[in-house]
Amino acid sequence: WAKVDGKNRWASYDPERNAREIARITLSNAMPAALEREEFYVDYQPIVSLTDGTLVGVEALVRWAHPEFGRLGPDRFIGLAEETGLIVPLGLWVLETSCRQALKWARTPIVSVNLAARQVAEPDLVADVSAIIERVGFPPSALQLELTESAIMGTTGEPLSALRRLADLGVRIAIDDFGTGYSNLAYLRHLPVHALKIAGSFVEGLRVGAADSVDARIVTALVSLAHTLKLDVIAEGVETGEQAELLRHIGADSAQGWLYAKPGPPEDVERWLT
Ligand code: C2E
Ligand code: MG
Ligand code: MG
Ligand code: MG
Repeated sequence: WAKVDGKNRWASYDPERNAREIARITLSNAMPAALEREEFYVDYQPIVSLTDGTLVGVEALVRWAHPEFGRLGPDRFIGLAEETGLIVPLGLWVLETSCRQALKWARTPIVSVNLAARQVAEPDLVADVSAIIERVGFPPSALQLELTESAIMGTTGEPLSALRRLADLGVRIAIDDFGTGYSNLAYLRHLPVHALKIAGSFVEGLRVGAADSVDARIVTALVSLAHTLKLDVIAEGVETGEQAELLRHIGADSAQGWLYAKPGPPEDVERWLT
């Protein structure tokens, strides 16, 4: 038995849990230097029009080329970065890197960058985003910022005004993983949002012969809700041709997923564009 936190709580000693905790702390501590040394990099995943199959945008997805542990996906370190606050400089680095990259492609698609809740709560967010756009010379209308429902719905006062000021810059706002959080629809209509991204967990259940499945009905309702609010609909996690066909039939505007391309290096996007 070991005493935890010096408080009156006791936990049994669990070597596996201990090892996981040490790995977490090791990664967490290594992150600031990793950002300095540019061990992070960005992969891009095409977002494709369901009407004509053209590439309309890309989502920027951060990865970590760890010298010891190899390539780490965001699920391994974004949560840690949120806890320590490193997500703020890391998120801005992803934004600047992907805007610079997008200007190098033959054509500049809409670049969609994820924002963590922690970033939205940061007083300097709008000034920082605006400084990057100016420094890079990036057209704001080609930038989309993705926030999850929990990052948005919790926003009142300052953060909500931050969203408004971002939208005023001409930047698009998308709600990520829509349908998985607690959306307050009455609140949604007052937000400066331009697009909804339907979570892959709903798309997964779309199958021919299951056109009336619960997931199909949910997706239909989400698309209809989005269009009523004059929002664009992007379906995530599209893996099969039949999912794409059903989504097109339901009226989703664009799609993203392994059917089209996995997230990859800038060269992959260049090939899509030419
Ligand atoms: P997300 O923003 O919802 O990104 C979509 C995730 O779905 C990505 O996972 C992508 O690789 C994956 N995906 C794409 N197509 C398919 C498919 O057809 N099937 C399946 N099963 N998955 C697919 P990834 O790259 O591991 O990123 C996970 C999450 O990490 C992201 O979810 C996002 O919430 C977060 N993230 C990634 N980059 C950043 C970043 O720069 N900043 C912040 N704050 N979060 C980030
Ligand atoms: Mg996203
Ligand atoms: Mg998503
Ligand atoms: Mg997500």
